[in-house]
Amino acid sequence: MDAAVPHPVTEQQVSRLRSALRLPVTTPGEADYAGQSRVWNAMINRQPSLIATCTDAAEVQTAVRFAREHQLEAAVRCGGHSLPGFGTSDGGMVISLAGLKDISVDPASRRVRVGGGCLLGEIDQHTQEFGLAVPSGVVSHTGIGGLALGGGVGLLMRRYGLTIDHLISAEVVTADGNLLHASADDNTGLFWALRGGGGNFGIVTGFEFQAQEVRRDVLALLLAWPLEQVHEVFERYLDFAADAPRELTSLIFLFNVPRSDPYPEAMHGAPAVGVAGMWCGDIPDGLAAVLPLREYGPPSIDLSGPRPFLFMQSMSDEEYPWGRRYYMKTGLMEALPRAAVDLSVEAFANAPHPALEIDFHHLGGAIGDVAGSATAFAHRTAQFAYDLPTSWDNSVDDQSMIEWTKRTAQALDAYVPGGSYLNVEADTGPEVSRRGWGENWQRLVAVKRQYDPTNFFHLNPNIDPARG
Ligand code: FAD
Repeated sequence: MDAAVPHPVTEQQVSRLRSALRLPVTTPGEADYAGQSRVWNAMINRQPSLIATCTDAAEVQTAVRFAREHQLEAAVRCGGHSLPGFGTSDGGMVISLAGLKDISVDPASRRVRVGGGCLLGEIDQHTQEFGLAVPSGVVSHTGIGGLALGGGVGLLMRRYGLTIDHLISAEVVTADGNLLHASADDNTGLFWALRGGGGNFGIVTGFEFQAQEVRRDVLALLLAWPLEQVHEVFERYLDFAADAPRELTSLIFLFNVPRSDPYPEAMHGAPAVGVAGMWCGDIPDGLAAVLPLREYGPPSIDLSGPRPFLFMQSMSDEEYPWGRRYYMKTGLMEALPRAAVDLSVEAFANAPHPALEIDFHHLGGAIGDVAGSATAFAHRTAQFAYDLPTSWDNSVDDQSMIEWTKRTAQALDAYVPGGSYLNVEADTGPEVSRRGWGENWQRLVAVKRQYDPTNFFHLNPNIDPARG
């Protein structure tokens, strides 16, 4: 055992846990401890006392009771993508859901059951066999657990809404170790809170989703113009977005063109304004719909064309690999005014690294068909989300990267009336949580007091039952 790491449980206690679980329980000093204790964001380096990987709901109940009995801080981990590293804990117990991987699809009802440890790509692979998809996120190694419980935005959101809008029911292990069923008929307050309230209420061992029919080939959109045209391009894009068909989910962004294929060599390294997205309807209809954007300019880069849906769902994987350093900020906007564009152009010009970008995702569409109080996800009327997905490799750059991202976010927050999407938020704390849940805060506190009065599940954007 590593002497530097506290180990508050005895070998005997750990071996009792081992005998109750099918997969190994990993403790410090064991060969695979370093690998098992890693999370996606290399900024996070914590040393848990033990990592218990569960394979079913009964094992999760055992793990929760063990952590309680031994007063271990519990970190719940699905895909390990939490920006602040909520899936690990110094000295605590990681309850890894990596063994809960069952996926079943009923093509007749389009109902899909997935284990609480599945990754998005695993679900997409299964559902696409039937021409279906559960709307989710854009990086296939993200966990469904954290993504779905926080809301879930992605390339189908304007057409079909958030991931939580497709949740039919959930099996949940609560802080007292009980297993509950939550749905529109059972434990309805819990069901409401699970749809956007994060991991505050228990561990979801199984999700049941209503999938949508999604064709195997969709239309990918990727256009870019030199940065000198930024204002004309934003103006044209905002006009277009105002009544864009819901089949199109897109974003506009400032970036430096990568020095690699398939980007045209003449544009390599050039600062640019891009528009990217996915059209999920008929491809000829999509080509006609996006014509006003493609004809404008025309773009210096146009890599648009039909692509498999599964390609779209994993094409950003390499941009966000495990093991890099990440710090991200986001904010939900009702509109995207010229002043916000101006300050973004200035911030982009002062970015400390050429790979940094500033994104504005177009929301609206089906997200707003659901009332802000119908689920725990409050901010349904936002039309745009700014997103600063800052990443880098060397710790010497930590300060400059974080400072630039914070400064840019603070400036953009002048145009954010009050909301953020907590799943893409690197910072934590009571103010961050309140801002994230907005008008649903008090109701969430009430549900938290009912299901987790001692705040056993506190490694998350937290709803502290004692503060309210
Ligand atoms: P983990 O670190 O494993 O879990 C984070 C927290 O979620 C846990 O600490 C726990 O509190 C809770 N949790 C996880 N699983 C469960 C469960 N089964 N039961 C109860 N609680 C659980 N979000 C989007 O909406 N759309 C995107 O397209 C998108 N893209 C992303 C791309 C990248 C590269 C990254 C890093 C994040 C992205 N996100 C996106 C944000 C993502 O939704 C959050 O980071 C989310 O927390 C990741 O979930 P996870 O299971 O991988 O994380």
